[in-house]
Parts: sequence; C-alpha cells; structure tokens
Amino acid sequence: MMKRAQEKGLASLHVHNIRNWATSKHLTTDDAPYGGGQGMVMKCEPVFAAVEALKTPESRVILMTPAGRPFKQQIAQEYACRNQHLILLCGHYEGIDQRVIDQLVDDELSIGDYVLTNGAIAAVVVTDAIVRLIPGVLGDEASAAEDSFSDGLLEFPQYTRPLEFRGWKVPDILLSGHHAEIAKWRHNMALEKTRKNRPDLLGE
Ligand code: SAM
Repeated sequence: MMKRAQEKGLASLHVHNIRNWATSKHLTTDDAPYGGGQGMVMKCEPVFAAVEALKTPESRVILMTPAGRPFKQQIAQEYACRNQHLILLCGHYEGIDQRVIDQLVDDELSIGDYVLTNGAIAAVVVTDAIVRLIPGVLGDEASAAEDSFSDGLLEFPQYTRPLEFRGWKVPDILLSGHHAEIAKWRHNMALEKTRKNRPDLLGE
C-alpha cells in the first residue's frame, strides 16, 4: 500500500539518517545523560539541524515515544485528512534531549504501553496507519470505514469460501441475502467481540 500510494502520487515518504547532520569528527549523535544514569541520550544539535533543514511552514513534527499520547485510529484519520507534511522523529538509546521536545515537537505519539529499541519501528506503524486512510490509497474506501475502531467497535467476524471446512460451517445468516438482517448480525457480533476483547472501548 505504501508503494501504491507513492506511485499514485498520494503520499511521498523519505527516510533521513540523523548522522547526516552530525558535525563532530566521529559523527556522534548521542551523549551521556546529565545527572547520571543508564544509557545515552540523543543530542539536540543534529536533531535541530535535521528538522530545521526539512521543515516547511506546514510541517508537523511528531516524536515517537512511549511517553506520548496513545496513537489511535482517530488520530490516524485526522492526520490522513489534513494531508500535511509530517516529520516523524525516531528516538534511540534512552531517548532525546528534552529541549527537542520543548522547542521542536508538535505532538508526541506512543504506539503502545511497551518499550521498543527505537522509534523507527513505531514510525513505520504510524505511517502505515495514516497512509492507508488517505483517500484513493485503498482500492475500496468502504473497507477502511468498516475496519475495527472506525465506529468505536472491533470488526465483526469475516468468512469466505469454502462454505464448510472440517465440519465448521459459515453462519446461515450470511447466506440469507437479507442485507438488513446481516448488518444487524454483524453489529451484534462486533459488540460481542468488543465486550470480550476490549471492554474499555464500551466504557465497561
Ligand atoms: N527511556 C525511554 C522511556 O522510558 O520512555 C525509552 C527509550 S526507547 C529504548 C528508544 C526509542 O524508541 C524512544 O526514544 C522512542 O523513539 C522509541 N519507542 C520505544 N517505545 C515506543 C513506543 N511504545 N511508541 C513509540 N515510540 C517508542
């Protein structure tokens, strides 16, 4: 989908190496934390130089961080609609100098309550979730509208051929041709699944 989006001119993706903006002899981009402690922190100079070189007046700078606000389908939807230049900043080591966050970053996003080795993995997740929602990227726009989270529920169960597999049959309702009844069944199944796997979405 990312390739298709780019070929159709609907999105343009670029990966930048922060070391291209490092100026020290060994192209250093990290240093020990002030105050002591484990690990290394990404230095602010190369990050400021990179963002200032890439930024346009319309850019939005987003930091990937486990300390960010939880990334949700609704946020992906908002970014996809805005059709804006996004700079996804990927941390490494212990994270990034706070002055980057204070002065350059417009939004901080976390892809989940766990810690990854680096932000590039999170940036791929965020990019995919946003780009597939740009109008024209998915062949069938309706498929995104029916995805989990679009209406606050998880998606209903899906079946395809064969009609019967190892004795397990496709529910009769899906063969009935009664579209209103099928829609009702799907809604009830979506509710059931959401209640089982994500009761928090129902406020339960
Ligand atoms: N010391 C940081 C903390 O406790 O918040 C974690 C640093 S993590 C080892 C290195 C980088 O991976 C982070 O700077 C961030 O860019 C990225 N990262 C890790 N987990 C992430 C998550 N759940 N969501 C988004 N980015 C994440």
